[in-house]
Amino acid sequence: MNTPLKTQLQKQTNEFFIRLEEVKPLCDANCKIKDVDRVEHILNALINGGTKRLQLVSDFDYTITKQRTADGSPVLSSFGIFNSCKSLPKGYVEETERLYHKYRPIEVDPHLPIQEKTKYMVEWWTKSGELLVGFPFDENEIDEVAFKYKDSLRDQSNVLFHTLYRLNIPVLIFSAGLGNSVISVLKHAKVLLPNVKVISNFLRYRNCLLDGFQEPMIHTFNKNETVLEGSDYYELVHERDHIIVMGDSIGDADMARGVPASSNIIKIGFLFDHVEENLERYMNVFDIVLIDDQTMNVPLALLSAIEAQEKKNLEKSFQFNS
Ligand SMILES: [Mg+2]
Repeated sequence: MNTPLKTQLQKQTNEFFIRLEEVKPLCDANCKIKDVDRVEHILNALINGGTKRLQLVSDFDYTITKQRTADGSPVLSSFGIFNSCKSLPKGYVEETERLYHKYRPIEVDPHLPIQEKTKYMVEWWTKSGELLVGFPFDENEIDEVAFKYKDSLRDQSNVLFHTLYRLNIPVLIFSAGLGNSVISVLKHAKVLLPNVKVISNFLRYRNCLLDGFQEPMIHTFNKNETVLEGSDYYELVHERDHIIVMGDSIGDADMARGVPASSNIIKIGFLFDHVEENLERYMNVFDIVLIDDQTMNVPLALLSAIEAQEKKNLEKSFQFNS
């Protein structure tokens, strides 16, 4: 059955059917939805499935953190935080910058096929890891720099993380950046709660000296649930086939790849740079595109719609049983 027809039938038979216009932040002018019927249909599936089937999968850099701050102060990426650590050898920082200028244009080139790009990304991350070998590094330095960025999370992030924790919804943060910085920022922002799992690149040590990154390498084009295969978390999230995905790069829309085909997924894309040129591409891969929205209002609104209905269902079943 095609989605609009199915949605139509659902509207007729389900007294709890919610229309997108009832979810206030989705009505804002900076919220763009290509296929309203489809999103309405998935949102209602998420609502009917309740919190037990739900998980949130999110990118970190410029998705959990802001793309723009109110006072114009810059927000560092997770690798940016690491590269700001004063004790790193000068040659490391210079070489890292050289690699960035070589590989970043390839990463964002809209014409190069993903397969081709992946080859270069593996090369980039491998070379970056090789630069991090053979010198001492005190991780407390990351903590000191990250502390300065504890307020760089999107507005309402604290409420979002605590709501997800209260509702027992797993949060998977997928980052092709540096996991040590991600963990540190989340910790200082007081949102590193027990339901939060970070999959990223973490520093490895040998004989008290840096020894590159731990395996597996997470780069821009393999950050999806297929890299979790075999892990405990893979088992856990595979029982949760209702997913809210959040990201700020086109590739982030693919983060839930590897979950069962029957899954219901709502993808939220935060768009900030070159809005006019990028809007169409973003609308093709994300269900909901938010233009220069530096808040967590939309994911929170989706969660509260899901929670509100779950409460009503519970009350109903209580009345029915008593
Ligand atoms: Mg990002």
